[in-house]
Amino acid sequence: MFFVFFVVPQKSAIDHSRTLAISQFSLPFLLHFGYNASLMNILHSQTVEYLRYLKEQGITHVPGTSKQPVTPVKRAPKAAPDPAPAAPPLAGAAPRGGLTQSVELQLITDEVAACRRCLLHRTRTRTVPGQGALRPDVMFIGEGPGANEDEQGIAFVGRAGQLLTRMIAAMGYTRDEVFIGNIVKCRPPGNRVPSPEEMNDCIPYLKRQIAIIQPKLIVCLGATAARGLVQETLPIGKARGQWREFEGIPVMLTFHPAYLLRDGTKKGACWSDLKAVLARLGKTPPKPA
Ligand code: SF4
Repeated sequence: MFFVFFVVPQKSAIDHSRTLAISQFSLPFLLHFGYNASLMNILHSQTVEYLRYLKEQGITHVPGTSKQPVTPVKRAPKAAPDPAPAAPPLAGAAPRGGLTQSVELQLITDEVAACRRCLLHRTRTRTVPGQGALRPDVMFIGEGPGANEDEQGIAFVGRAGQLLTRMIAAMGYTRDEVFIGNIVKCRPPGNRVPSPEEMNDCIPYLKRQIAIIQPKLIVCLGATAARGLVQETLPIGKARGQWREFEGIPVMLTFHPAYLLRDGTKKGACWSDLKAVLARLGKTPPKPA
């Protein structure tokens, strides 16, 4: 085994999955059978694409198995260490390697899009993996997609989502500055509560996302989120306002916005929970304009 060091030009976003798939085949093929000129040209271009992809990921060398000489040989700058902690892998998940956090998140999104682990895949329109910022102050976790989310593939975009957006704004953030997700990624029919089996099947995706996103704090919106993430046994009416912990991350339990739409008298309690979140971050809510 030997190692190839390389430098290739920067290239912005490319179809990594396709390039990777092609090149994972072609690179070893090239190294073994590199004598046919036309084949060499095709394989060379694919290999350059693959090396370009690897360089974007900060990988400076790849293992080879052939005795054929390979050029160019120049060491790229040392990649910064990936600060993300090890995430629990799912069966069939890609290894972490030097992949960036955004690429890792995209891999999860792709896995979710193809997922058939539980029966919710049969009735979904679109999967809803969640969206938002890496390393946010706050990550909000709800129960599961509703009709609007199922249609658009985006978490919290219905009436409850609009209320959540106002809650986030009242805290001094935009939706893009936090991360918003759910315990299950597919809509339960009729907006029923997901079953324990469905939650168990889906929660590994969320746990992997949290490990990559690394929020400073998590807010569980409603009883299902609290039960799914921190195994809360108290009713949300009693558990709200209390801190729990997940993998060392403080977790605040509060009401789901959909519940607040049904019972507006609970909005004050929810707001005091969100202010406690801000206080733990050393922040205060902005003054209303
Ligand atoms: S809810 Fe989760 S586990 Fe079930 S099919 Fe959708 S992505 Fe897969």
